[in-house]
Amino acid sequence: MPPLSLPSPPALTAEARHYFAAAARGRLELQFCQSCAAPWFFPRPTCPRCGGDDYRWAPVSGRGVVESFTIVTRAPSPAFRDLLPYVVAVVALAEGPRMMANIVGADALEVTIGAPVEVVFETRGEGRVPQFACVREDAP
Ligand SMILES: [Zn+2]
Repeated sequence: MPPLSLPSPPALTAEARHYFAAAARGRLELQFCQSCAAPWFFPRPTCPRCGGDDYRWAPVSGRGVVESFTIVTRAPSPAFRDLLPYVVAVVALAEGPRMMANIVGADALEVTIGAPVEVVFETRGEGRVPQFACVREDAP
């Protein structure tokens, strides 16, 4: 069987371009609806709560809790082999929306449901991607 390769990156929407440009500057920004005030993730042109298309971008705390996770031990393609094992989690942000991301850091494999996490920015290619790291309970 020939080795698998990663597909080409998807074309970015205008909203995704804004999101990743903010991430490249070390900022986690979400869209906030100007009609119902709801924040949302993933970046898209309309509010998933009310359908409004008037929004503003604003930075968020980057804090959240792990709602669910899995530890990946089998690479979905050879490109992921050197990353094993790694953690994929659903993080509920303090502001409400959920994000899927990796849990990174030396203690990533000890993550638990409900663990507090905070955003970190991982360099990928020419950009940076929001990921999350466990927050030590005794951290200030
Ligand atoms: Zn709305």
